[in-house]
Amino acid sequence: MDTKYLHIKEKSERLTREEEAMLRQAGEIIRSGGLVAFPTETVYGLGGDALNPGSSRKIYAAKGRPSDNPLIIHICRLEDIYRIVSRLPEAAVKIADAFWPGPLTMILPKAEIVPRETTGGLDTVAVRFPSHPAAQKLIAYSGGYIAAPSANLSGRPSPTLAKYVKEDMDGRIDMIIDGGDVGIGLESTIIDMTSDMPRILRPGYITREMLGKVLGKVDIDVTIIDPDSRLVPKAPGMKYRHYAPKGQLAIVEGSPEQVIAYINAHTDADRQAGEKTGVIATAEVLEQYHADVVKCIGSREDEEGIARNLFSILREFDDEKVTSIYSESFPIHGLGQAIMNRLLKAAGHRIVRLF
Ligand code: AMP
Ligand code: MG
Repeated sequence: MDTKYLHIKEKSERLTREEEAMLRQAGEIIRSGGLVAFPTETVYGLGGDALNPGSSRKIYAAKGRPSDNPLIIHICRLEDIYRIVSRLPEAAVKIADAFWPGPLTMILPKAEIVPRETTGGLDTVAVRFPSHPAAQKLIAYSGGYIAAPSANLSGRPSPTLAKYVKEDMDGRIDMIIDGGDVGIGLESTIIDMTSDMPRILRPGYITREMLGKVLGKVDIDVTIIDPDSRLVPKAPGMKYRHYAPKGQLAIVEGSPEQVIAYINAHTDADRQAGEKTGVIATAEVLEQYHADVVKCIGSREDEEGIARNLFSILREFDDEKVTSIYSESFPIHGLGQAIMNRLLKAAGHRIVRLF
């Protein structure tokens, strides 16, 4: 398949007439059963018509994704949710008011019209109303409901730039829309609204603390905070090893001095053994590492920067053929919870505790 490429200005509110025409064309592709990758405020998504079972099957095939891993339906107007859910609890309306459009996905009971191909066979449906202006336009031109997982091959880090979408999806889908850098760099927070107590199934930019302010008490899926848990996560996608770089990644937790000494000792030894070594380091201690490739993930003071850089750094290690990678660790409150969740998954839960 010949993949078409289309460029739009970065996060611009007002699109040119030409860009509008191109997005209309992209919408036509989705309406007729094709797939288009597009920017959102979280990561790039791989979109198809959510109400067309054939489109969802194509999404699984293009990503090499297991078909029991459901897709998120993206809408561009709040009122459109009523067609795809069978019930909208009061609490869901409250958090829609507070956080939509934005990086929050709600799990709700699905309406008949939503095909099981889109929900991975479940009776529930994941819904998000993104804030990215071009994403909203594309959803509207596509008929209102785009099923979109992240636009990466299954198991690879989610794409934060169109060039990474191209790496994974060129020749596999109809079109890639390049809208520049994404804003957040981690996938949406997922909250399950089908049980009495709302429960976070995947941490993200909208934190437990933020949700708690609107809802009162909010649970969190224990498999997110306890990596040793033997329970199966409720969001099917969370059970897969994910975001994984090709090299071996380990996270090292301890005081800054302990972490630096440990990582240096291990990268020295790994290099001796013929490995190409890498470190994911914070700006404050960057200079102190010996590894072949030391990547700065940002300052400890700037968690949003760390979130934005994580996935692209994992891909850069692949590009530079680094085989042995160590990462500093991050505190798990606020946005740190989402950062550590993705990092732990990328590391296959390999964590060294030096305390
Ligand atoms: P991605 O689109 O790549 O961010 O992946 C979508 C995520 O949403 C996966 O982790 C899915 O398991 C999760 N998800 C989608 N629909 C549901 C649902 N109905 N119930 C629970 N999790 C869901
Ligand atoms: Mg994904």
